[in-house]
Amino acid sequence: MDKMKEQIVLGLNPKTRSKSSVKCFNTYVQDLPTGKEHGKFLALDLGGTNFRVLLISLDERHFDMQSKVFSVPQEIMVGTGNQLFDHIADCLAKFMKEHHVHNIKLPLGFTFSFPLEQIGLTKGILQRWTKGFNCAGVVGEDVVQFLRDAVERRGIAIDIFAILNDTTGTLMSCAWKNHNCRVGAILGTGSNACYVERIENIPDFDGDMNKPYVIINTEWGAFGDNGELNFIATQYDKEVDNKSINPGKQLHEKMISGMYLGEIVRLLLVKFSKDKTIFNGKSSDALETRGTFRTEYISDIESDKRGVFSSCRRVLNILELGEVTDQDCSNVRYICECVSRRAAHLASAGIATLINKMAIPSVTVGVDGSLYRYHPHFHNLMMDKIGQLVTQEITVSFGFIPVAILTFQDLNQQTLREGNQE
Ligand code: ADP
Repeated sequence: MDKMKEQIVLGLNPKTRSKSSVKCFNTYVQDLPTGKEHGKFLALDLGGTNFRVLLISLDERHFDMQSKVFSVPQEIMVGTGNQLFDHIADCLAKFMKEHHVHNIKLPLGFTFSFPLEQIGLTKGILQRWTKGFNCAGVVGEDVVQFLRDAVERRGIAIDIFAILNDTTGTLMSCAWKNHNCRVGAILGTGSNACYVERIENIPDFDGDMNKPYVIINTEWGAFGDNGELNFIATQYDKEVDNKSINPGKQLHEKMISGMYLGEIVRLLLVKFSKDKTIFNGKSSDALETRGTFRTEYISDIESDKRGVFSSCRRVLNILELGEVTDQDCSNVRYICECVSRRAAHLASAGIATLINKMAIPSVTVGVDGSLYRYHPHFHNLMMDKIGQLVTQEITVSFGFIPVAILTFQDLNQQTLREGNQE
């Protein structure tokens, strides 16, 4: 936590940012929703597993969201920037027609979850592509301009109001109902978080000086890239990193997120089978192949009731490890628990660092991402750990207004899961 706080302070200052592993980009988002917003809004969501177009209708009491998932063909993911944005404009145009809003100029928010250096609310320079995208001619350019040009070529009328990343989107949508929301976190393919910072803590702040706060996109996935996590990195972490497409980069994310946890478990299983501590020394081609142990399997295995190993046996069967003992299954579960507990604790340490830095008496944390949503114990592990790590003053009010972590399938079906509640 001390090391992360140090990197955050370095990242907030434009003069020292280049030295920091936690870049703390300004999002230029300086207002949180009041809940009184009304009207129809369009949204685009690019940068996760799916590309989505959404139409959202708000009034003070009601919320309605319609959305459609579109695929991004592989050849477009690695084609040119214009091809990608023409595809996006095309999907948007079809969606607007289907929902009868093609003749209205609606405001649009663009959730673009790639590392972006923003220059304003509607201007963001792509730093690098990640997650399998690699479209020519976009790095170093303003992606909003790409979208504007494509929309114009397609002949549709929209008003691009904001570009933001998924953490900011999570914080803002959570804050619409929960006015204490000050942190947004993603625990999905990758890991990242944003939080509300006072502008007086940001040297040379170039946004609106008349507003006291701004949302900061930490890009904490890269924490550790200056060696800050060496003291806890294991041989398995080093192997995952060495074999990745970006060695030495995103080291915190590689200990936490869905893209890597399954692979860490696999490496442990290979090691213990070699040591003959599990499977009676047996292995299989599947177990020895990189990427075969999906992070979803960790959730499945940890979802079995204690002493029952039906999911565990099913997973081991998929990995061509048919004949295993109950003790093997128990050991496999223990390995999964160690890996997911460490991930939940690291994410909690990050969130507690942000909460402590904000030094406010109560806070709601908005969290999204499949790892958090579907792992059976991630939420509880995080609630416990954040409770232990927040400082005294915050702990005091924690008893009355517990830190709440919110997950949502969509905003109509919010489930607020609070600290003292099962
Ligand atoms: P993204 O982060 O790309 O927007 P998601 O939030 O759906 O998308 O995250 C996808 C990641 O979540 C994948 O890496 C996958 O391994 C992980 N994941 C999906 N389902 C589960 C699950 N049931 N348990 C744990 N992790 C999961």
